Amino acid sequence: GVPSTTPLNEETNYSDRAEYPESPLEKNQCWEPGLHGDDAFIDGACRDLFFNVIRIAGGNPLLSVSLRCFYSLGLVTSLKLDEVALTDYLIYIESGYKDVPYHNAFHASDVVSRTCAILQRDRILTDTDSRSDKLLLLSVVIAAVVHDYLHPGLSNGFLVATSSDIAAEFNEQNVLENLSLNRSLAALKKTGFNFLWKLPNRDQKIIHSNVIKIVLSTDMNRHFDVISAFKSKVTSVLTDFLSKESGALRSKKQMNVIDMPLRSSTTTAESDRITALCNCRQSNYHKKAFLENLEEKQKLLILEMALKVADVGHMSAPFEIHMEWSRQLENEFFLQGDMEKQLKLEVSPLMDRDKPGVLNPKNQVTFADVIVIPMLEVWAVLAEESGKTLLTQVMQNRETWGKKCSEIGICDV
Ligand SMILES: [Zn+2]
Repeated sequence: GVPSTTPLNEETNYSDRAEYPESPLEKNQCWEPGLHGDDAFIDGACRDLFFNVIRIAGGNPLLSVSLRCFYSLGLVTSLKLDEVALTDYLIYIESGYKDVPYHNAFHASDVVSRTCAILQRDRILTDTDSRSDKLLLLSVVIAAVVHDYLHPGLSNGFLVATSSDIAAEFNEQNVLENLSLNRSLAALKKTGFNFLWKLPNRDQKIIHSNVIKIVLSTDMNRHFDVISAFKSKVTSVLTDFLSKESGALRSKKQMNVIDMPLRSSTTTAESDRITALCNCRQSNYHKKAFLENLEEKQKLLILEMALKVADVGHMSAPFEIHMEWSRQLENEFFLQGDMEKQLKLEVSPLMDRDKPGVLNPKNQVTFADVIVIPMLEVWAVLAEESGKTLLTQVMQNRETWGKKCSEIGICDV
């Protein structure tokens, strides 16, 4: 079985890990490792798209969630991972997440949980025996675990503007992502942490290189590049594949209308295309065949998208939970803004506490319209179940923010 509590690694210094600041959600019942007879709650972390990691009290949320996901995806047994080293590595990585308001171990746990749930719900590379698919799956879970490792709660722009050592070390390119990757992958090579040691060197190299590609794709500066690559190399190929499999797309008249939420700006043609695709793809057979025929590069692109969807997934969490994450993000941004003012630098967008921040309804609507909704619409073409479920919730949240906008008369949405 999976250990629910694990002895701490003596080499790790825990003294600087203050308690996570109390949030209203923690007043509800919390889950603690080893406290409850059954672990049904934590099992939800690997399947539930709306799993709320903030309810994990004390202990090590990243360890609890990640370990469950490694087991739930069948990676520990099929790839003969060293369980003791895996546990020690996860504890070590968790201790490197700082007590910043947003980019902390809870955010990492949230992203691991949602990544795993997305993959399972849409059966992305989860029901094949292919070894290379297992290596890809393992890579994306590791990528989710380490993707914000050592995040200082400051942006890439700030680290470059202040000529920080880290910015210099990585030539001002994807500074935070490179930092997380460089340090976490170096740790993975250490004896006692390398839970991959039973795999051939060739496979270990493949995993390291996959993790690098997946984590680099989470830099928001590359957001639109990743989306367009996904469209041209995955969803358009899927369209062709389905046309061949199912004959020509049925005419609009013959199509059954499905209740797929679409943003108002989506054209009728786009909407027809998505509806057609969803209708044609009812059988898992088609999707499985499509995924099996893809090249490694295309599969990697799918996993990059899965992690990106998971990374902004709090936008599609139930409104109260989404508010809680947004509040933490606003705190983190304002702290950077304060530092920028002190250093007489230009204050970055959304980071000036004297101006509208993350919690401003208009800013929320814009972020949903420009980033989150278009991404989920594209994602839903391939991953119907998670895409539709997350899209429905984000549309609801957008509506709530829209109402708040109208109430205070700052925008008409
Ligand atoms: Zn993140």
